[in-house]
Amino acid sequence: MSKILVVGAGHSGLHLAHGLLDHGYDVTVITNQTSTGVRTRRPAITQLTPPTALEHEREHHLDFWSAQAPQMEDCKLLLYPSGADPIRITGRIGQPGQYAVSVDRRVKIADWLEYFEDRGGKVVIHRMTHTDLDYFSRMFDLVIIAVGGGELGELFDSETSRSSGARPRVVAQANIRNVAPDPESEAIAWAGATADAGNAILMPMLTPEGPCYSLSLGDKEGGPIDVWQDQPTPAEQLRRMKDLLRRYTPEFYERCKDSELVDGNSTLVEHLTPQVRNPVAALPSGGLALGTADVVVTMDPFGFQGWNNSIRCAESYLHSIIGHGDRPFTRETLVGMFEKFWEYGLPVQQFTEMISTMWDAELPKHFQDMIGAAVGSPEVANRWIAGWDYPPDYANWLLDPELARKFIAEVGET
Ligand SMILES: Cc1cc2nc3c(=O)[nH]c(=O)nc-3n(C[C@H](O)[C@H](O)[C@H](O)COP(=O)(O)OP(=O)(O)OC[C@H]3O[C@@H](n4cnc5c(N)ncnc54)[C@H](O)[C@@H]3O)c2cc1C
Repeated sequence: MSKILVVGAGHSGLHLAHGLLDHGYDVTVITNQTSTGVRTRRPAITQLTPPTALEHEREHHLDFWSAQAPQMEDCKLLLYPSGADPIRITGRIGQPGQYAVSVDRRVKIADWLEYFEDRGGKVVIHRMTHTDLDYFSRMFDLVIIAVGGGELGELFDSETSRSSGARPRVVAQANIRNVAPDPESEAIAWAGATADAGNAILMPMLTPEGPCYSLSLGDKEGGPIDVWQDQPTPAEQLRRMKDLLRRYTPEFYERCKDSELVDGNSTLVEHLTPQVRNPVAALPSGGLALGTADVVVTMDPFGFQGWNNSIRCAESYLHSIIGHGDRPFTRETLVGMFEKFWEYGLPVQQFTEMISTMWDAELPKHFQDMIGAAVGSPEVANRWIAGWDYPPDYANWLLDPELARKFIAEVGET
């Protein structure tokens, strides 16, 4: 059995490491934070685990929290065209009976890391440098780099042909309580997309302090929502976030106006530039390393696919590694592993880019027609929302004008 090194114990690295352990591989995880360090740090950007990703977690006995975490069966999408009333599309996140959950990274990653050690996985706490990596690459049959936005990602060259260009983003987030319920459903996430000022997300989640809500506002750097340069205190950040909601997404404001922070450590502001990189890095002494998830594909947060993507990438690599057997991992093998994942990743990237640029010009006619259809038809609304679970489906009915017209006609006939 191959000896495999995973550098970085985040969402993708730990998912893959657990999967490899399930199949009897000799797996070592090197990461720069202990589980206690993860538990006691500031919050990170909120994740959403949609139904199919949750199923993958269950396959590896990694869904520890569905009984405690608020379950989201539906999502309300509010579109705010400039100067016009909002458009509401409410649909199911998955099939009937399925749900999504959001679990704070401080809970999820710390629990997964401890469980990995409990199961006999090897964990080394060390901040890996380029030189270390070169050394370690000689001791393992396969090296996977899963450091998210960590600086080791610089080993992988940018691949501009797979992305339509850098759009730097800023995301401000607060974990809050005393949020007014949605009058129609408790098990619901809200997503708002505005023409004037980025996106808003409000969803119930499980944190170390128990269930609460995650409120996040994302925009382009320098946009109307990017008002964090002076690094406001948590209380001031929440005050400004409410003010932005009142101005740009009043329905969100109505639910959040009386909310308060879970504690004094409940806010964050993060910057991110979406990009795609070459999946394989060559190390000075001739070794190779394969990048996973955010290291190679950092998706625009407007598409809300980062965590889904990191599980899908880990799962795809796991199957490729198992299928490869005991043969050596050559450059062609590693490129092939990424290309296999990219069969899923490319349509997700296309959907995410479409969503993140949708207000930059007038919406295409077929897209406008589909919005109208989704407002009136639960079938269209459900397919729209369920697409977050499996975005490649959008290519079958939403992204292509002909297929969109055909779907609207079919739905109109039923
Ligand atoms: C601004 C921003 C907005 C985002 N918005 C969204 C969103 O809206 N929706 C969504 O689903 N996702 C979002 N994400 C993305 C989501 O956080 C990631 O997609 C997901 O966490 C990626 O998983 P990963 O395994 O690649 O990396 P991570 O989960 O980040 O894990 C990386 C791991 O590597 C470790 N590490 C780093 N450097 C080293 C080193 N040198 N040596 C050893 N260990 C190291 C870290 O400690 C960590 O454990 C956002 C991220 C950012 C930054």
